[in-house]
Amino acid sequence: SSDHRTRSSGRMPPPTPEALRAALARVQRLDQRHHMHPFTDPRALVQAPPFVMDAAQGCYVMGQGLRLLDAMAGLGCVNIGYGRPELAEVAAETMKQMSFYHSFAGVTNPPAAELAARIAALAPGALNRVFFANSGSEANETAIKLINLYWRRRGQPGRRLLISRDFAYHGSTVATSALNGLTAMHKPFGIRTVGHVAHVASPFWYRFGGDLTPEEFGKRAADAIEHKIMEVGPQNVAAVFAEPIQCTLGAIIPPESYWPRVEAICRKHEILLVADEVVTGFGRTGRWFAQETFGFQADLMTLAKGLSSGYQPISALVMSDDFSDVIGEQSEVLQHGFTTSAHPVATAVALKNLQILEEEKLVTRIADDIGPYFAARLTTLEQHPLVGEVRVSGLIAGIEIAEDKASRRQYPVDLGVDQLVGQAALARGLIVRPAGNVLVLCPPFVISRAEVDFIVDALAEALDQIHTALM
Ligand code: PLP
Repeated sequence: SSDHRTRSSGRMPPPTPEALRAALARVQRLDQRHHMHPFTDPRALVQAPPFVMDAAQGCYVMGQGLRLLDAMAGLGCVNIGYGRPELAEVAAETMKQMSFYHSFAGVTNPPAAELAARIAALAPGALNRVFFANSGSEANETAIKLINLYWRRRGQPGRRLLISRDFAYHGSTVATSALNGLTAMHKPFGIRTVGHVAHVASPFWYRFGGDLTPEEFGKRAADAIEHKIMEVGPQNVAAVFAEPIQCTLGAIIPPESYWPRVEAICRKHEILLVADEVVTGFGRTGRWFAQETFGFQADLMTLAKGLSSGYQPISALVMSDDFSDVIGEQSEVLQHGFTTSAHPVATAVALKNLQILEEEKLVTRIADDIGPYFAARLTTLEQHPLVGEVRVSGLIAGIEIAEDKASRRQYPVDLGVDQLVGQAALARGLIVRPAGNVLVLCPPFVISRAEVDFIVDALAEALDQIHTALM
């Protein structure tokens, strides 16, 4: 860091290409030897060194001499864009004022109280009580524990079953992994879902809708939840856990008929509905929360990513008044929490992030301006022979790769056509995320029209290249 200071003060000449190469090689060597990466094949890292990213600004990330347009906003989190000095300043000021104190045993700090109130004000309906954690996984894990507590308090301890869906992603901890609709995350760790989690079909019309209209299929997919409830008995079901849009495994946007019906089924059987808005929360779909976009109201909502635009690790479980009243009706310590729950620096940064979203009207911009432009430009790709469907909600999109457009037949997943298109896009300076015959996009909210044009042009070229190669 002393290097960096002297360099930026202009007293030292810029580093030579050799020095830069040596610095890069050192980072790669240390990393290869000592760093175990999430969601990475460790063997592959032995063969090929990790890619070193070391700067980011606006919608771009930089590393190893490359500047890439990040149409994934990191992992769907950097909503206000990279490198905002306001957030750095708030973090530094708060850290100097009070670097840390905990929130156990009835202690709080000003930004934590302000942020809880701000979230309650923005959140739909009676979602008014906030528990803070550090990651989306922890927020969902907290929801699972509190749901168990809730049913015990209500004298129905038999309500243990959590209903989740195929293609779900709710996190990486033990309990949340069990919710995931992805056996690849269960098998290696011996995580068994039997007993406390049941999976039902995803509202994925393109892949499973057959001859039904999206409207008809949406109702059928909702009814799959009710069938499961009747099969196991409503008295055994604790909650339905669901992302309004299943982002990680394909940006699966349900038909309009789906969500109101799911809500009605949960109400009918008095089952709690949890909206995992870790990706969709704070504006991604053009409304503050996707519950507003799809017209439903959950009892519990989980938030992370966009809460701080990824500048600090922070997440939240937001509870309805009815739910939190039951948790609070008995005088008993809540035996749950994390050292850094309601961390003053993280909550201060999140508050500033929400202030920027509001002052710069970034959510309205998605609804009225850049969202419609993004949708209009991206759907032109539906004319491409490799593209079966482009689905868009706000600034979240899935591009379905098809082998045969008419029959909606897919390439075998093992062929990795989505990976090939992703690599071809990367070679043109664009980051999108291949997710098994789908390319997922969720760019920062500050993306410009010119940047949207670049995304569409780079994708069109990448699709052409791979289409030609497959012929
Ligand atoms: N829920 C959803 C919908 C997510 O997309 C993710 C992460 O991608 C999580 C939960 C887990 O969040 P985290 O990785 O912060 O634990």
